[in-house]
Amino acid sequence: MDIELPERALVLLIGVSSSGKSTFARQHFQPTEVVSSDHYRAVVADDDNDQSATKDAFELVHLVVEKRLRRGLLTVIDATNLQAIDRRDYLNMARQYGTEAVALVFNLPTRVLMDRHYARPDRFFSESVLERQIHRLQTTMHDLPFEGFQAIYTFNSPDEVAEAVVSRRGQPSGARLQTGPFDIVGDVHGCYDELVELLTKLGYVQDPSAPLINRTLVFVGDLIDRGPNSVGVLRLVMQLVQNGTALCVIGNHDDKLRRKLRGNNVQLMHGLAETVAQLNAEPPAFREQVRQFLEGLPHYIQLDNGQLLVAHAGLREDLHGRSGEVVRSFCLFGATTGKNDDYGLPVRLNWAADYRGKPTIVYGHTPVADAIWQNNTIDIDTGCAFGGKLTALRYPERELISVPARRQYAVPSRPFLPA
Ligand code: GDP
Ligand code: MG
Repeated sequence: MDIELPERALVLLIGVSSSGKSTFARQHFQPTEVVSSDHYRAVVADDDNDQSATKDAFELVHLVVEKRLRRGLLTVIDATNLQAIDRRDYLNMARQYGTEAVALVFNLPTRVLMDRHYARPDRFFSESVLERQIHRLQTTMHDLPFEGFQAIYTFNSPDEVAEAVVSRRGQPSGARLQTGPFDIVGDVHGCYDELVELLTKLGYVQDPSAPLINRTLVFVGDLIDRGPNSVGVLRLVMQLVQNGTALCVIGNHDDKLRRKLRGNNVQLMHGLAETVAQLNAEPPAFREQVRQFLEGLPHYIQLDNGQLLVAHAGLREDLHGRSGEVVRSFCLFGATTGKNDDYGLPVRLNWAADYRGKPTIVYGHTPVADAIWQNNTIDIDTGCAFGGKLTALRYPERELISVPARRQYAVPSRPFLPA
């Protein structure tokens, strides 16, 4: 099971005693991300098993959860969470702080639970307590879909628990605090030669004796499709991201490849067929690396203490710092009317014309003849694959650096927007 956590998430582990909640929390989350009722029993009573400390322990759990959510931090509640009233309090907090609530339900066979309970040296309560909890879990599972969770994942066996993969569709940790300087690169779309030329011009490809460049690359996404060498671009950018030289947000083309590599049925249009053919000529291990790379890309990145935001198609101000389907779709596709134009492509709204926010927004997605500032936003997709150029924006200098396309690799289905 693939559990993809949103950018800001409150995760409730739900299950009876001994269903493996604490073990799961240790395996998949940082210790500070896990708020455990047992831990706070120990904090107030020197005994993580002291049921008389329950009320005090949960007061602290609530307090800590609230403080963490206010900071927008991923928070995991390790408690049985079998009471609807407790869950409601947490859901209210999540809503208040723009956080998505995710339930992970440990619905294991009674046999397994009993065996574990008796094997456990630190739990002494009777079988009837466990039976009561098991009964309550069934009620909980019935109620959960109506309680307002954004996602519910249920494990029905120890194997399902063991095979779970938790990924975070969040920003790279600490990105917000990075102050740059940055070189933000527009839609590459498989134009490998032009990318190498641009990186050379920017000073990233250089003779090894020269001092290391102290700047960070940021890719606006759409690394692939249309151009001649999507695999070359992927390999290079994955390496740059891995060694800390680059950050990258996901574009709509990258996202479609991600779904294809997951085994979803997607239409192989707009250059994706060629990309998939190139990938099929690579070893399966490389395809798996690409899949994992794409799964981990955030929809947008906030940098320079929130003064700079990079998203493939931009992001309206009221969505900054948020996550969820509206954010995802804006970052990938921008503001669209839901209608298609005469060329059969979605009609795009010019959200940048209405942008009044303070953060600088750098994006791509819509090819333009030249990158031009509009209300502190700039579209740096200068259509390299269509025979335009590949552009980078230096930040904070606000200097534009481009290299021309070596040739036209694809024909646009509609004319570029006028500059
Ligand atoms: P919690 O009460 O839900 O937090 O459960 P724990 O994570 O503390 O696990 C309860 C007991 O089950 C412990 O003794 C664990 O070692 C054991 N346990 C947890 N997960 C697994 C598992 O996947 N396989 C096996 N065999 N034992 C497990
Ligand atoms: Mg536990």
